[in-house]
This record gives sequence, C-alpha cells and structure tokens, in this order.
Amino acid sequence: MADENNLAFACVLCNRYKGSDVASIDPLSGRAIPLFNPRTEKWQHYFRLVGPVIEPLTEVGWVTTRILRINAAERVIERQVLQSLARYPLGWP
Ligand SMILES: [Zn+2]
Repeated sequence: MADENNLAFACVLCNRYKGSDVASIDPLSGRAIPLFNPRTEKWQHYFRLVGPVIEPLTEVGWVTTRILRINAAERVIERQVLQSLARYPLGWP
C-alpha cells in the first residue's frame, strides 16, 4: 500500500519526464545535482515565474527544469493561454 507521505502532486508530463530519476549530471561540472523535491523543499527557493517561463534560481532548479522540460515551447504556450484566461499565476514570487 502506498505511503501518503511519499506522494507529491505532479502533472503527467513532469511525472513522465522525471521517471525514477532523483538527480542529474550538470554538464558543466560533471557533478550529480539532485532534482527539486516538492515533499521537502519550497518551490520559490529554486524557481521563479517570469511571464509564462519558469526560471531556475539554483543548480537544483536548473537541472529540474531541464529534465522535466518545464519550459518546452508547447508548455510555455499552454501557460500563456492559461494566464490569458486568469487560470495561472502571472508571476511568482
Ligand atoms: Zn508539471
């Protein structure tokens, strides 16, 4: 049986791109960088929303946006449409 404390909300695309990964190699340093953990970390410490783009603020944010393809063109366009309908925040924090 699943432990509820081990669950986190995720959209199907992020969940699919993440798979079982918990870290990614930084191509510049060659170091393993952990992915953002929504169960233990605060989103606003790692990312900010600028228009429809989710900008990373840290190495963790950077590898997470890359692995999850958070700013793929179709996903940015989807956010723009949702923002135009007031169904997505315009900026954060
Ligand atoms: Zn997502």
